[in-house]
Amino acid sequence: MTYQATTKMPVLFVGHGNPINSINDNRFTRSWAELGKSLPRPRAILAISAHWYIPEVGVTVMNPPRTIHDFYGFPKELFEIQYPAPGCPELAEQVADLLKPDSVSLNSDWGLDHGTWSVLRHIFPSANVPIIQLSLDTRNTPEEHYLRGQCLADLREEGVMIIGSGNIVHNLRGFDWKNPSSAPPMWAVEFEGWNRDQLVSGTAAALTDYLAMGEMAALSAPTPEHYLPLLYLAGLQESSDDVRFPVEGFDGGTMSMLSVHLTSQPFSKKRTSTR
Ligand code: ZN
Repeated sequence: MTYQATTKMPVLFVGHGNPINSINDNRFTRSWAELGKSLPRPRAILAISAHWYIPEVGVTVMNPPRTIHDFYGFPKELFEIQYPAPGCPELAEQVADLLKPDSVSLNSDWGLDHGTWSVLRHIFPSANVPIIQLSLDTRNTPEEHYLRGQCLADLREEGVMIIGSGNIVHNLRGFDWKNPSSAPPMWAVEFEGWNRDQLVSGTAAALTDYLAMGEMAALSAPTPEHYLPLLYLAGLQESSDDVRFPVEGFDGGTMSMLSVHLTSQPFSKKRTSTR
């Protein structure tokens, strides 16, 4: 499908889960590949990964960005993966402008971490769409992340696909490494369900107060970094967007693999062909 300049780019949140998904063939990775076939080709991608959680707002400017293997104890094959997409320095500078008066550092040290490439190598396997990453600032409140997402809204009209990568439920302490099909506990199902409900009913701003959901939030997001990328999608959601969940299910019981896909309705109607 060809991107039409009069329509808005979809916004994605992808539950990335275990880094091994980058090379596995399972129900999640097959769904990512199917999702990729349904998407328009963006001019560029702005990725917000759980794995770039630093005390500043940074945006990558290198071209191309290096592939970072930011994990330990996985098979050698994983460390050999490259995702050779080009960078997009001009988009990085545009993002820095959009986020003013926040100070944004143009970063030449990071690159693409596995939160980004482990899913993109299934969604956009050709690795030919220019890409930059935006960091999650550890100093910010959930609401500030949500508002930063809102500041990026114009990019949707300029062919830029914004993709958050994390996990709505990410509890490694309870993760069943031996049984991917392990049944999720009730708190995980309920927390994921609460998030779905807010997105579907157009009350995504409520997600900024996720910690008020008590124990189910504390167990699902014991640290914030895997949850926060969802707040960028929440900030970008508009009333005209369709909300879809192209990937569903839990891995190892305590890892929600839910993905969220916002599609502007005019875009859906103008869909004329498939790739
Ligand atoms: Zn992760």
